[in-house]
Amino acid sequence: MPLEQLRALQGERLREAVERAYKAGGFFYRRMRDHGVSPSDVTSVDDVRALPTFRKEDLRANEAEYPPIGDYRVVGLSGSVRLATSSGTTGRPTVTVWTDHDLNIDYEIAARRYWREGVRPGHVIANAHPGYLNGGQSQVAGAAEKMGCLPISIGPPEDEALVERALRTIENIPIDHWHTLPAGAARIREVAERIGWSGRMPEVAAVTPMRQYSAISAGLECIGTLGGTCSPENYRGAHVAEDYAIVEAVDDVTGEPVPDGQRGKFLCTSLGRDNPMLRFDLNEVIRLDRSPCPCGETHVRAFWEGRMQDVVTVQGKWIMPIDVWSEMDESQEFAVVRTADEQDSLEVRVENPAGGLLERLQERTGVPVTVTAVEVGSLPRAAYKANRVVDERP
Ligand SMILES: [Zn+2]
Repeated sequence: MPLEQLRALQGERLREAVERAYKAGGFFYRRMRDHGVSPSDVTSVDDVRALPTFRKEDLRANEAEYPPIGDYRVVGLSGSVRLATSSGTTGRPTVTVWTDHDLNIDYEIAARRYWREGVRPGHVIANAHPGYLNGGQSQVAGAAEKMGCLPISIGPPEDEALVERALRTIENIPIDHWHTLPAGAARIREVAERIGWSGRMPEVAAVTPMRQYSAISAGLECIGTLGGTCSPENYRGAHVAEDYAIVEAVDDVTGEPVPDGQRGKFLCTSLGRDNPMLRFDLNEVIRLDRSPCPCGETHVRAFWEGRMQDVVTVQGKWIMPIDVWSEMDESQEFAVVRTADEQDSLEVRVENPAGGLLERLQERTGVPVTVTAVEVGSLPRAAYKANRVVDERP
């Protein structure tokens, strides 16, 4: 869509979302009222900046104050067709409900990503996203079904015996794609190799560091799959579904937008939904690129850099685990050590460090680096989301 038309559509959908949320009289109404903003203050896409931001802990507090699921939605339990929780990696999971309309928006955005990755109707997809109450598994499976694919949901590789049993069960089914996060893919490969599995394993590409730039999520509670890359090999970032979202990268202190190409705090506003989310501060770091993409898509490209809690500030610079990981072998285990709120050098622990790593890290980050070799197997392995930062502040 031409940019001018896209901005007009976003403005129209933002106005509609703000009005819906305000009229509902709950969480978003109170926050806007306390912030001195009313729907009439929001007329174009840029006016999103007039709205107050909120964090996941605000939703958690709201759910506790207004049980059972809070009052931050326009449509509640009655009128919803699915309930699930987020992964809970950063605290107690929040509850998410979907109307049929909102579920189909999620499927459409996910389908755009899957299509760009080569998924086509008729393909078989091994899905290792978390299940049970967590919504990852059902969202991935639902989008795949909507595309006419066959998802096989084996669950996350939390338990080696379960992974082994699942791999044995599907050994003779031809798998076209694996859907899992990098840490999970590595774990599945470890088990598959140990048991001499003959099926198609998650690709090596699935565990390369730069893959984190190939897709972006605004959290299950906002938009589970927000975008995907048009070219996994070129690390062009993930095209955000801008017709369904406004994405901002802002300065942590001033709240002002950071220039394209710079790391900023990730804010997302969902558009077109029954249950809008207005300026969700994900407590994560992104970088945006609005330059024309060789593929011809006009939607902004976002690079997901990591979580705010994983930022290690060295001589005023935000260093993220991706900066270290991208200079190492894909399967190498490492940890970044935080020694102070602002430290003078970057400290990295690595199992089996390769020669020249120190120099490459210094070159990439532009700060002094210390590399310490540690025993193989001594750093923690993750089942779902890797934790690469060790906090050793006094
Ligand atoms: Zn592109």
